[in-house]
Amino acid sequence: MSEADSDAPLRGGIDLGGTKIEAVVFDAENQAKGSARHPTPTSGGPADVAAAMGVAMHEAAQAAGLTTAQLKGVGVGSPGSVDGANGTVASARNLPGWDGSYALGQELEHALGTRVVVGNDVQVAITAEYQLGAGRPYASLLGVFWGTGVGGGLILGGTPWRGRGGAGEIGHMVIERGGRRCPCGNRGCLEAYAGRGAMEARARKLIADGRDSDLPKIMRDKGRTRFTSSVWAKALEHEDPLATELIDQAVNALGAGIASAVNLLDVEAVIIGGGLGVRFGDPYAERIRAAMKKHLFPGHQDPDVHLTGLGDLGGALGAALLV
Ligand SMILES: [Zn+2]
Repeated sequence: MSEADSDAPLRGGIDLGGTKIEAVVFDAENQAKGSARHPTPTSGGPADVAAAMGVAMHEAAQAAGLTTAQLKGVGVGSPGSVDGANGTVASARNLPGWDGSYALGQELEHALGTRVVVGNDVQVAITAEYQLGAGRPYASLLGVFWGTGVGGGLILGGTPWRGRGGAGEIGHMVIERGGRRCPCGNRGCLEAYAGRGAMEARARKLIADGRDSDLPKIMRDKGRTRFTSSVWAKALEHEDPLATELIDQAVNALGAGIASAVNLLDVEAVIIGGGLGVRFGDPYAERIRAAMKKHLFPGHQDPDVHLTGLGDLGGALGAALLV
């Protein structure tokens, strides 16, 4: 490695989602220089997910004209319970076979030949929004990442709030006592109504019970095996009644859950991101704001509601900021 390469400021960021793996190389000005996207494996286990992440990062580096070993390091935003000190990830329930603890950082260091730092996916994304995105004008933020699950991240008084490592689980705010079963095992959580995984399970069950919907056909036409964000978006465009009904329920659930969190924390702004949040865009950020309105404590100042300023790349950029 030449002298110039050794202080090259290029960093890698990997956003590990329940549906896709996004790997991006960023320069010192946080501009994307190369990227690659792969579907998250739906079977196997953590080793298979780590292998797919390695491939995606190698491709992103290649697109940026270098090798992964030439990167200053690679940051990873991962779901589940992350131990940043040793790079392990446990109980990432939206990933296949990932119930126990797995040394993701160590595995990726072997595969990539550079330093790897692992952080929680929503926490790195909200930190990126706070530093570089839609959260810049504010000292207190709630990030809501509406995707396969519903994740949350908090900045309170300029400081990320992680609690004892488990803070921000807005997807598991109870919005309906005794309600639908959530992927976490409890009942009535926000994610049971708004998480893409839970919505897909609900849609498939209702279709199996005889409800009519274009969702499966749209999925097949797109060559997908899941109801991805683009599948839902297309179904809404076609005014598919089942998709419309489930998304309406999701918006109302998000309004109740987010407003409850705001009533507790009085944050200045709510930032909406995640696969569905980014795909649906500003009109849905506005719908969520309207749905919050009827649950916000009257007389207090309402928070601003924005779509993520960094879009789809926010997760990968936040991960790269860990390096
Ligand atoms: Zn739950």
